[in-house]
Amino acid sequence: MSAGRKQRRHIGAGCVEAVVREAAAAPPTYLRPLGAYYEVWKKASMLVVLPKLIEGLAPEVLNAVDRRRRASLTGTCDCGARWRVIRKGRTAQLTMHHQVDCSASDAVLVGLHNKHGWPA
Ligand SMILES: [Zn+2]
Repeated sequence: MSAGRKQRRHIGAGCVEAVVREAAAAPPTYLRPLGAYYEVWKKASMLVVLPKLIEGLAPEVLNAVDRRRRASLTGTCDCGARWRVIRKGRTAQLTMHHQVDCSASDAVLVGLHNKHGWPA
């Protein structure tokens, strides 16, 4: 058996959930910027890409981005949403289903972006 097959079997046996549990308990470590608007952080063996807190953002946007960052770093949002592993065939996706009115949700953040824009 090749090393690649062993790796796929190992991932299919709950490895993703173990990585997520370990990351949820680990302290975050800042790694580097990712372009003008994002940062890369590390939690245990998991990398997390976060939107930056950019100077000049409207207060409403800044609060929403801050909430999103805290949710992404802790695995739990103020609205009660938590990280969930969604399996799709051989791949797994980490997701968080926020309440509809949660400012950290994709829909609210996109609406705020459309309303206020992002500083140049
Ligand atoms: Zn939320």
